[in-house]
Amino acid sequence: MALRSARELAGQLAEGTVTSVDLTRHYLGRIAATEPKLNAFVTVMEEEALRAAAKSDERRAAGKTLSPLDGVPVAVKDNMITEGVRTTCGSRILENFVPPYIGTAVRKLQEAGLVIVGKTNMDEFAMGSSTENSAFGRAANPWDLERVPGGSSGGSAVAVAAGQVPIALGSDTGGSIRQPASLCGIVGMKPTYGRVSRYGLVAYASSLDQIGPMTLSVEDAALLLGAVAGHDPKDSTSADVPVPDYAAALGNFDWKGKRVARPKEFFAGEGLDPEVERVAGETLEKLAGLGAEIVDVSMPNVKYSISTYYLLGTAEASSNLARFDGAQYGFRAEGTDNIIDMFSRTRGQGFGQEVKRRIMMGTHALSAGYYDAYYLQALKVRTLVKRDYDRALEQADLVIAPTSPFPAFPAGSRMDDPLAMYLCDIFTISLNMAGYCGISLPAGFTNGGLPVGMQLMAGAFQEEKLLSAAWRLEQALGVVGSRTPEIAEAAV
Ligand code: GLN
Repeated sequence: MALRSARELAGQLAEGTVTSVDLTRHYLGRIAATEPKLNAFVTVMEEEALRAAAKSDERRAAGKTLSPLDGVPVAVKDNMITEGVRTTCGSRILENFVPPYIGTAVRKLQEAGLVIVGKTNMDEFAMGSSTENSAFGRAANPWDLERVPGGSSGGSAVAVAAGQVPIALGSDTGGSIRQPASLCGIVGMKPTYGRVSRYGLVAYASSLDQIGPMTLSVEDAALLLGAVAGHDPKDSTSADVPVPDYAAALGNFDWKGKRVARPKEFFAGEGLDPEVERVAGETLEKLAGLGAEIVDVSMPNVKYSISTYYLLGTAEASSNLARFDGAQYGFRAEGTDNIIDMFSRTRGQGFGQEVKRRIMMGTHALSAGYYDAYYLQALKVRTLVKRDYDRALEQADLVIAPTSPFPAFPAGSRMDDPLAMYLCDIFTISLNMAGYCGISLPAGFTNGGLPVGMQLMAGAFQEEKLLSAAWRLEQALGVVGSRTPEIAEAAV
């Protein structure tokens, strides 16, 4: 039996067989029952959620629903600003930060009538690939509690995979939606840079950050993206491009005669787990069976993407995180006798180890004398990576790759080795540098029963094509809904 998708819940709400209050109580109950094992949430918004659900039911009774998802529960990553509800970014430095305003994506969820049930656990300031770098403890993978869920949007991935909520939002700077989606057996999509407003998304690396859906099915991803996408005057990098009805367009794609690029750099190499390689091969066979033509391409510059990302990302982070100094909000160290001391002790005590490492790397990369050698060079390489995508997409309609080189790994196994952790994103980071869109969908399982995801990628603002292609592939694979982690069975 499969978990219920947002589409199914919306149908039940429309038929009147459940109310939003029923659903919200159900998911809050699931959260209460499973959180001791999963730790997917930093804050559960029980009261606010029940209030919002009651309002949704009133609207429905009056025939005034706001959107197809009105009344459906949702969770949001804890780096999205929520007015009146603390927003921690997984960090001690924001442990008690209650924002006085609301971010655009969250506001749009509310305007579409969705019921926000809580803020999900994450790697501190979205830096990490395992949701172990959280000041609020690690989140556990529902398929094997001793393993990581991936990160940094691990809490959102766990919450959806374990039936704590039907859908959630995450953010993806170098893979943080797609990689945890892959490791938890759900769908995760990074939209084109600029597709979803970043206003009220706490900035990590502003030129790469993007909010996107984490869901049980491609159809739910289409619905949730449709709810949050669009131009926002409050984010100058948000694009003024119309938002199509993604969900209505899902049936419009036929793989017959379409070309899909298989970059050799993403399908080989020492780091690739043989079982991931097997699932990748099976997925390509399915695509060929649907009539797609597999085109072999080379993307020679993607091998520089990890090193480039750790220059650009840390440089941007060092500047973005300068604002957390204890002066105006958040944590402030006690017992300091002057302001410089206060800044440095606040930051010393408030930030975790990985965040400090990145602030130092970024500050170094931007410092006079090194700026040209590191930051400027990295910007040039970023352009080369983007050109690799442009060339591949000239030859094909979409690009395919495994999402992660390996399935979920044991908790603790990469924490002492930052480079090993950074390599988790070897197949996802380059897409952020190009700014294009990509989706990870469940494509199979290892022999040990761990989920394996595959990623489709497309050019700027090609979400409609990307989602409809993924939807067809999802149908052909038949993996979505085929298995449920044991801990989620009570939620079915
Ligand atoms: N895992 C990558 C990092 O540690 C990407 C994180 C992200 O996408 N937010 O930075």
